[in-house]
Amino acid sequence: MYQVSKIVNTFVVMKLKGRFAPSPSGRMHLGNIYSALLSWLSVKSRGGEWLLRIEDLDRQRCRREYAEQFEDDLLWLGLVWDEGGSRGGDCGPYYQSLRNNIYISELEKIRAKGLLYPCYCRRADILAARAPHATDGNVVYQGRCRHLSDAERQQLAAERQPATRIMVPDADVSFTDGHYGLQRANLVRDCGDFIVRRADGNFAYQLAVVVDDALMGVGEVVRGCDLISSTHQQIYLYQLLGYEVPKFAHLPLLVNANGQRLSKRDASTDMGYLRQHFTPERLLGFLAFKAKIIDSYTDISLSELLQVFDWGRIPHDDIKIEAE
Ligand code: GLU
Repeated sequence: MYQVSKIVNTFVVMKLKGRFAPSPSGRMHLGNIYSALLSWLSVKSRGGEWLLRIEDLDRQRCRREYAEQFEDDLLWLGLVWDEGGSRGGDCGPYYQSLRNNIYISELEKIRAKGLLYPCYCRRADILAARAPHATDGNVVYQGRCRHLSDAERQQLAAERQPATRIMVPDADVSFTDGHYGLQRANLVRDCGDFIVRRADGNFAYQLAVVVDDALMGVGEVVRGCDLISSTHQQIYLYQLLGYEVPKFAHLPLLVNANGQRLSKRDASTDMGYLRQHFTPERLLGFLAFKAKIIDSYTDISLSELLQVFDWGRIPHDDIKIEAE
């Protein structure tokens, strides 16, 4: 959990580092702010540092203007990061779109182990061949392209660019989530071979997030529980690349009145709207009340929240947000 962040002569300073890693594909919304706040509280309540990484791998959807607005929204709330984003730091660049060379060299380490293969499947082919037990909308890839002959591979290569997939072994991966406890999955049965580089050349989230968290010295990952099932694949990558696995703590999701995960479509949770209707202390109070960190809905400052923050109070079930 602790990283050696600075070595000054013979003194070794160990600091816990947490992070917030949003994708700037639109204006920040309540769900982003909630993840940011909880990861900030978790690490700051233990005297650690907080890093901001901009996950803009998807160049079609992500924009630098949104990233700038994210920073402005975080600062409006008082959530100041110690390194990352436009502020920079020792482990940059902090924009995934600028880290291609790093991903290429890490991917080559996996290639040298003989674990990568080109995959020519289209999404529709994969859905058609999906395993009956695939859950959570996660489709377990059945490994069609793992077994292609050289001739088949050559024929497909003439038609289209392949994605790059990594082979997974028939092994269990388990970890103890800081909030949800023991999690276990079998890589073949529950995950399947997964994509590390897409056919359009962009690196996949699973690879980039592991490389970045490891090389940036992140010791604690706090994020929404929709990513719990990805964690097994990520731990597999940590182990393959010889990185230390961080602590993971997942958060219950914020959902709308219909039980759907809050998203940009819920206009009244957009930061543009929220900044017009709330003060920072009111919004912090609202989130802290919804996350059961405080018992009643009152204005509260970040320093007051730090005093009362306790993971033990946070619910495990989804948190419903009604339109105000
Ligand atoms: N960039 C991802 C998102 O905005 C978060 C990934 C993570 O926290 O691991 O949903």
